[in-house]
Order: sequence, then C-alpha cells, then structure tokens
Amino acid sequence: MRQLIIIGSGPAGYTAAIYAARASLAPLLIASSVEAGGELMNTTDVENYPGFPDGVQGPELMALFQAQAEKFGTQVVLDDVVKLELDGDVKRVTLGNGDVLESLAVIYATGSAYRKLGVEGEDRLSGHGVSWCATCDGFFFREKVIAVVGGGDSAMEEANFLTKFASKVYVIHRSENLRASEIMQERARQNPKIEFLLNKVVEKIEGDELVTHVIVRDTVDGSESTLELNGLFIAVGSDPRVHLVHDQLELTKDGTIRVDGRSSRTSLTGVFAAGDVLDPTYRQAVTAAGSGTVAALDAEHFLASLPREIVAKAASAEAVTV
Ligand code: NAP
Repeated sequence: MRQLIIIGSGPAGYTAAIYAARASLAPLLIASSVEAGGELMNTTDVENYPGFPDGVQGPELMALFQAQAEKFGTQVVLDDVVKLELDGDVKRVTLGNGDVLESLAVIYATGSAYRKLGVEGEDRLSGHGVSWCATCDGFFFREKVIAVVGGGDSAMEEANFLTKFASKVYVIHRSENLRASEIMQERARQNPKIEFLLNKVVEKIEGDELVTHVIVRDTVDGSESTLELNGLFIAVGSDPRVHLVHDQLELTKDGTIRVDGRSSRTSLTGVFAAGDVLDPTYRQAVTAAGSGTVAALDAEHFLASLPREIVAKAASAEAVTV
C-alpha cells in the first residue's frame, strides 16, 4: 500500500507530486497510457507560465514538470485508471493492465476533455478533416482552407497557429462577442489569413472520405449557407473528466468536483482534487499548478493526522510495491 496516489499528469498532478515527494510521501503518479502530460502536450508556445520570459513549448514544459517530480522520488506509471474505490480508509485504484493499487490518500487531477459540437458528420469525419488539436494535425493542412469553431483563447490560439500551414482560416463563433482575452483576439484580428464569421454555428459537417464543406447557420436571421473547406478544428472548451468519480464524489452544478472552500478536500475523506477537474473558471496551467500544491499540502496534513502505525506500514510497503 502507498501513502499517496496521484491520478493525472498535467500541471496539477505533477505539481502535487513535486510537493508530496519533497514531503517524503513517495507518491505514485498515474499518467495515462495515451494522454500523459495533459492538455499542454497539444500546445505550442506557452507565453504566460511564469519563469519563461521567452515562452516555452507545452511538451517541453511538461517534460520539465515530470523530471522535477521524479527527481524527488515520484514514481510515474503510464497506464489508465479504469476503476476507483474511494469510500473506505484504504483507496483502491484499478489500472488498465489489471493491477489493483492501494493507498491511504488520493489526489484526483484528471483535467478536462475536449467538448464536441454534437453535429452530424463530426464523429464520422473525426481524423478525416475534423480535429480537436491544431498542433497535432495542422501540418496536414498545408495551403488548405480550414475553419476553427469557438470564440475563446483556444480558438484564437489554434487559428493563429494554423495560419502557419493553411492558406485561409475562418473563425466561426456563435455570437458577436469573443470570450478570448484581448491580446489573443487582437493577434487573430491582425492576422491577414484569418477571417471571422460571427453569429454563426456549424449545423452539419459534410464530405465522403474527407471534409469538403460545412453547413453554417446564421444565429441572427436563421439563414443557412455552405462553406467549402478542407478541415474543421473544434475549440469550444472542455468538460471536467469526472467519469471515474461522478457517483462517488459530490459535484458542482458545473460538473466539477466540489471541494471544501479553498481547500482541495472532496466529499470523501482522504480524497483530494486539483486542477481543471475542480475549476470551471480560471483553468490556466499556473492555476492548476497552484491547485496541485494545495492538494499535496492537504494530503500531507491528512496523512499526518492518521495513526502513526498505519502510515508507517504504508510507507514501508512503498519500497517493495509499485
Ligand atoms: P472557453 O474559454 O470555455 O471558450 C469556449 C468557446 O467555445 C466560447 O467562445 C463558447 O462560446 C464556445 N462554445 C462553447 N460551446 C459551444 C458550442 N456547442 N458550439 C459553438 N461554440 C461553443 O474554452 P477555451 O478557449 O478552451 O479556454 C479554456 C481556458 O483555457 C480559458 O480559461 C482560457 O483562458 C484558457 N486558455 C488560455 C490560453 C492562453 O492563455 N494562451 C490558451 C488556451 C486556453 P460562448 O463564448 O458563446 O460561450
């Protein structure tokens, strides 16, 4: 049995691991088999993470997080959690490979998953012109016409990035008001390859093998039109990944994990949450990292409150078990 298992490998999970490892909790961090590193793995320039005045690439930043967590004794496991049993004094974590791990405390930092539009053609043409990741797929759209759906920072960032490849990038947004920060909006507006289509929603994505066009509806007058393009990048936000815990932990009306005040304490003793999974508002790498710190400190205090012999047993077992 472990003292602490951390689930999630974004800025929240790794920061929790750095703090917990430095507090001699020898955490085990489960990083996912396919999406290790979280959302920053799909980001190019990160310009707003303190300490990097010249910016840093998302994957490079995550590699640094991981190296720092491992340096202090975090053990990273590349597998998926398929089941969680969180209600007892001993938490049980089942991995995709069938292993069942036990711990006295769990930090749940699984982040959020890209939202879909829910329109016809979206699933069928996913990977055939429909994408949620400009940095992964942008390269395939050299000299092509593409569109980005959304009005937030992600949409602006993706649109700007995609102009490196595409001949033309439309930004399709459902209202007149962009949610993106002023600096990101301005950068997109200044880009000669970007054209905004405001008050518009995508109704249908069409094409046989590959996307050839989308049907767009005007949200003001209801008229429909066809927009020819080769690719559609969807950047309409994300939802907290709570599927493993939604029937065990209390959630908020936003679907995020409910925590006690400014702490990371969830509705179950010994279970702590960190990062985007509890934050419907700020959702920045640096706020997620701060939230990971809170969770590690809360977990440390919780473990310190347990009878010494129980913690000692878990601590001695760490040396021999994964
Ligand atoms: P977001 O801020 O939630 O924006 C989502 C956008 O998609 C909104 O404009 C929303 O429209 C639109 N939308 C939502 N559902 C839709 C639907 N079904 N159909 C059409 N449009 C839909 O999400 P985000 O842009 O992914 O950003 C998430 C967080 O990460 C934010 O806090 C953001 O600041 C941060 N972020 C920061 C950076 C950076 O600083 N470099 C980069 C990327 C993201 P409405 O506005 O009408 O609701």
